[in-house]
Amino acid sequence: MKQYEAIIIGAGPAGIFAALTLADSGVKPILVLEQGNDINQRNRRGGRDILCGWGGAGAFSDGKLTLSSEVGGFLGDFIPKEDLERLLKETDTIYLKYGAPRRTYGRVSDQTEQLYAKAKQVGLEFIQMEIRHVGTENCLSLLKAMRSDLEDRIEIRTLCRAKRIRVEGRRAVGVDLDRGQSVNGKVVIAAPGRTGSDWIREEALRLGLSAVPSPIDIGVRVEAPAAVLQSLTDIAYESKLIYYSETFDDKVRTFCMNPYGEVVTEETNGIITVNGHSYSKKKTENTNFAILVSSSFTEPFDDPIAYGKYISRLANLLGRGVIIQRLGDLMEGRRSTTERISRCITRPTLGSATPGDLSFVIPYRYLRDIIEMLEAMDKIAPGIFSRHTLLYGVEVKFYSHRIKLVRNLESEIDNLFIIGDGAGITRGLLQASASGIWAAKEAVRRI
Ligand SMILES: Cc1cc2nc3c(=O)[nH]c(=O)nc-3n(C[C@H](O)[C@H](O)[C@H](O)COP(=O)(O)OP(=O)(O)OC[C@H]3O[C@@H](n4cnc5c(N)ncnc54)[C@H](O)[C@@H]3O)c2cc1C
Repeated sequence: MKQYEAIIIGAGPAGIFAALTLADSGVKPILVLEQGNDINQRNRRGGRDILCGWGGAGAFSDGKLTLSSEVGGFLGDFIPKEDLERLLKETDTIYLKYGAPRRTYGRVSDQTEQLYAKAKQVGLEFIQMEIRHVGTENCLSLLKAMRSDLEDRIEIRTLCRAKRIRVEGRRAVGVDLDRGQSVNGKVVIAAPGRTGSDWIREEALRLGLSAVPSPIDIGVRVEAPAAVLQSLTDIAYESKLIYYSETFDDKVRTFCMNPYGEVVTEETNGIITVNGHSYSKKKTENTNFAILVSSSFTEPFDDPIAYGKYISRLANLLGRGVIIQRLGDLMEGRRSTTERISRCITRPTLGSATPGDLSFVIPYRYLRDIIEMLEAMDKIAPGIFSRHTLLYGVEVKFYSHRIKLVRNLESEIDNLFIIGDGAGITRGLLQASASGIWAAKEAVRRI
């Protein structure tokens, strides 16, 4: 059986940055296992391909690097703030090295300060943060550059799924693969992403790892003419707004704003949900963003992932996928139809969504929260609470089952690190990538 110094499961941003860090430290041999296709074989229209393969969910993402420790994950729970700030800078520098554009958006300025004040006046909190926008088309070339830099220094097996993490006496010793093969490794770094969250959850149960409760975010993707949101997107590109709803006092937030972008579907383990992205050059006439509400469950039900899946399945059942509705139809208590959508002045960028009625799918609590948030936003982006605003549902963020990590992102099993979105500790490219660097540095010390 072949012996490696380190085995990395998953070639998303977390796994790739772990591989870069290990290879740059001279560790060898290193094995990366990826269940999806290699980067040149990936096809963004190819269902599972959109999330699986070299680059993971990052390959066809919008490539917005949020350069703030305040968003994008919970690494602050494990890494002291100053170290985390340094780590995020280091991660960003690596993105720049492989071709990310130098320009950033949203740096604190008089304009962002004014937006901050204006938002406060209408009951919204505007989070000021700097963003580097790689753009979907550049994500691929950047990931290819990383791939070719690593090519001669590590072994990469694509279309190769890790089946089981092998443990002896509470220490990770290797990985069993599909088709009966096994490999040995001194250190195992699992970076399976959201797409591998069911797998890592089962592994955690099998290995007796403790879980930490995590929330679920449920909501819709909103689409409107870009001009409606221009007063926000020109200043901040990605406007992070937080609202506490009047009726339920829930925390409601905007997420992943894509100026001149397009709405897309996403398939995770057979469930179709909605998402959005934007290219750096190609532009549509719309801007889209998500409005999400976080919920936590405790007792007797504590399975937020099952809850999110249930709601997504309901949308899939009624709409055979994603449902689209005009805000005006929702407010009037009627479904949208193909004919009504054709009379909407916001032209949908996602053609495959089924016109329908989101009130059959989304619980009243979330719908009320979403409507209130749009009403508040209308005061700083006039026109967003319009009958021509489009809502796509559902958007659900299945933050993975969070596994208890002890220190330096190591699990309760020695030499088994669990990182990135799959560990439930990150929610974006920069923090996922940073988690790879952090775990790999500790792995180097072990090796
Ligand atoms: C449409 C879209 C747009 C996005 N836009 C942004 C954005 O603009 N900014 C931002 O910060 N974030 C964005 N994100 C989120 C970002 O892509 C993720 O946070 C990030 O990719 C997480 O990295 P990861 O390495 O933890 O997991 P992933 O990228 O999900 O990678 C995990 C990899 O592990 C593989 N894998 C899983 N299980 C196994 C197994 N058992 N064996 C072998 N391989 C396995 C998977 O196939 C996958 O390739 C977007 C996501 C999507 C889907």
